[in-house]
Amino acid sequence: MIIDSHIHISFLRKKKNFSQVRDNLLLNMRKNRIDYSIVIPDNIANSQCADLETVMSLIKSELNLYMVGTLRVSQVNKVNLLKIEKLFQKKIIRGFKIFPGHDPVYPTDKRWCSMYKLCVKYNFPLIIHTGINVDNRRCAKYNDPKHIIKVAEKYPKLKIIIAHYFWPKLDYCFSITNGFDNIYFDTSALADPEVIRMSGGIKKMKEVLTKTIKRRVKSVLFGTDWPIGNVKKHINLINSLRITEEEKHKVFYKNALYLFNL
Ligand SMILES: [Zn+2]
Repeated sequence: MIIDSHIHISFLRKKKNFSQVRDNLLLNMRKNRIDYSIVIPDNIANSQCADLETVMSLIKSELNLYMVGTLRVSQVNKVNLLKIEKLFQKKIIRGFKIFPGHDPVYPTDKRWCSMYKLCVKYNFPLIIHTGINVDNRRCAKYNDPKHIIKVAEKYPKLKIIIAHYFWPKLDYCFSITNGFDNIYFDTSALADPEVIRMSGGIKKMKEVLTKTIKRRVKSVLFGTDWPIGNVKKHINLINSLRITEEEKHKVFYKNALYLFNL
């Protein structure tokens, strides 16, 4: 089985409607033998990537698609917290994503506290976008794992998934998260040629992924960042690692089953 824990219903250059994108996604999943995907909505209503409400309606009757919730920090208020809590209760969303770097807001921002507590209460993970944007390296100051470990310390029961391994600083991200049993990593974007090139090459990428898996096999989960990320390339990357079959099963689906309570 394979679970893709990080995809978006979005389009890149050519404009498409979102139900068309969803259908492409399902087709692509069948082609690559992905059993389930977890859709991450954008936190702004935008024309290129489906937001929370849109994703909810798009995947309502799709048994192979799950989703997480998201808000901007300025939207964290009683009404929206109640809305997110209801979605957690009904298991319509199975996690929550924040976008530091896209938003100029640190994960340690106090306004997130009540949201983090909700994740703990319902035992759903917090996904944190990390790393540079090719056109804007400075944005990575907001998602530096040095802030994320503070959240992990403050909320030891909060499961935190670092998306994109704070690329290009893979070794730094590996070291600074050492010893944190509530920090996890998804592999999304890590098979992207540009990400690999800027992060020190394929040998470095494989080395860091392998040592992360060997350090704590539960901590790595398969994700692609489709449609930006190529699914096949991400599958090949995991398959190319020198790890045991059981470790591969954990990365490809067992860790996601556990983290998202599937
Ligand atoms: Zn993404």
